Amino acid sequence: MIWLKGILQKPLVATNENVCINCGKCSEICPMNKDVKNSSFVTSAECINCQTCVLNCPKDGALESRIGKKALKPLFIIIKVIVMFFGSIFAFQGARLYKLLPQSTRL
Ligand code: SF4
Ligand code: SF4
Repeated sequence: MIWLKGILQKPLVATNENVCINCGKCSEICPMNKDVKNSSFVTSAECINCQTCVLNCPKDGALESRIGKKALKPLFIIIKVIVMFFGSIFAFQGARLYKLLPQSTRL
């Protein structure tokens, strides 16, 4: 069950104030306009986990994605978000709870 919790748990972006050089690039580049530099954690629903801030941070270890206390590679988070997004669509479609296209209408 721990692995299931890991899959379902939302990743968060965490800053390490001891390593950060306060360049502000993470806040400038965030497509959701989050003030990443001045947040210890970005956990809000506004973060789309795009990993742009983490990938563009010039200082190693200043910004990282975590699930719980475990730091994860940005590529893993991106793949996880894609799998969760499309996986949930296909699961709901398979259970006939969701349709991608509306039923055709006959005139
Ligand atoms: S992961 Fe993307 S949306 Fe989230 S804080 Fe970083 S740049 Fe902004
Ligand atoms: S991009 Fe990295 S080093 Fe620059 S302010 Fe953000 S966390 Fe700090």
